[in-house]
Amino acid sequence: MSHLRKAFYLQNLMKQQWLKPEELDAVQVKMLRGILKHAYANVPLYRDKFRSTGVYPDDIKCVEDLQKLPLTTKNDVQESFPSRILPPGTDLSRCWISRTSGSTGIPFRMVYGTRDEDYQKAVALRPNLSCGQNLRDRWAVFTSPSHVVKKKWFQKLRIFTPEFVSLFDKPDDQIQALKQINPDVIDGYASSIHLVAKRLQETGTDGIHPRLIYSTSELLTQDMRRCIETTFGVDVLDQFGCVELGRTAWECHEHAGYHIDCDAVVMEFLRDGSAVAPGERGEMVYTGLYNYTMPLIRYAVGDVGVPSDEICPCGRGLPLMKLIEGRSDAFMKVPNGQIFSPIIWTVLMREIPGIGQFKVIQERIDRLNVLVVKGSDFSGATIPQIQREIKAAMGEEMVVDVDIVEEIPRDPSGKVRCAVSKVEIQ
Ligand SMILES: [Zn+2]
Repeated sequence: MSHLRKAFYLQNLMKQQWLKPEELDAVQVKMLRGILKHAYANVPLYRDKFRSTGVYPDDIKCVEDLQKLPLTTKNDVQESFPSRILPPGTDLSRCWISRTSGSTGIPFRMVYGTRDEDYQKAVALRPNLSCGQNLRDRWAVFTSPSHVVKKKWFQKLRIFTPEFVSLFDKPDDQIQALKQINPDVIDGYASSIHLVAKRLQETGTDGIHPRLIYSTSELLTQDMRRCIETTFGVDVLDQFGCVELGRTAWECHEHAGYHIDCDAVVMEFLRDGSAVAPGERGEMVYTGLYNYTMPLIRYAVGDVGVPSDEICPCGRGLPLMKLIEGRSDAFMKVPNGQIFSPIIWTVLMREIPGIGQFKVIQERIDRLNVLVVKGSDFSGATIPQIQREIKAAMGEEMVVDVDIVEEIPRDPSGKVRCAVSKVEIQ
């Protein structure tokens, strides 16, 4: 039943992207009113938030009205889990639970019911399908080995069958894996694909010729994009998202910006609590429109983006946003020469109990300073475990200092980032 539902969602989403902007607005507002009513009726965190402002779901008649409601922070979510952010009676054994820290370094769990999960997966497939990926393409995906557990619905149908390349392997091993897969489509963290592309250029290796490249999850710099595109000879289609809500915006072949999945999320761009004008940078705030099991209403995700009022030449009605160019100073090179992408932190740290929020600063090639805000389950074991896990991944010669702090400061850009390096890669 479930895979039929996903196929149905996907079919609907594929059609919906071509609606006119005002038709999509109507779809979005209807979904928004639905989730607000549900959150007010069933989720204590939001019921209290709504009541504290005297604003009720019926008062929200358009997206702009959302500004009447208070924001939800990652700490709100972390502290409300589980009883104040899940509807009563949620059966966790029937849910998909994702542990995450995202790029901001605040670990927590996200819970998706089967319908939520189906919808999110369908949203995630839409850009791939609509930008030229075929059902039976060979599809190489960079991922953490621990993610490869459950067979995805589309694998059971023997379509959309990704083959996985480990995020933690060295570029040379990843290149070997890619050669074996011989992919039509490469999909993965921008930083991983970039490191592979650089290595291919350095060694003059040939033999990997994808038709499509999707990069995901991190900010792709112009330099990284150029390097990947010249190495493989195809354009990179970048996709943007957050771990809590999956993919939320994506490039089509026109590269006019990122199409926002406005039939899955409401994205607000704020400065000092008010919406910024198109073209201005604002803190991104998400309201999920389908995640009824663990609603996120006006959720401050910690990213900064730029709303756009341009229309994409492709003709899709999905609105556009622009991204702030990423910075490559979050990559870390360690004494044995291996370069680590910032994404490893979200994978390494999420399993360690006791971390409220973290930030890793590489002070020297062999020295890391880890700032930690204590979580509720912090114990004497937390700090040694952090040191152990980092040394296991990056080398025993690494010196790992852990400092307990009250708060992690934001970057000057406004973004909260969990990793920075003061060491030049070259
Ligand atoms: Zn487009």
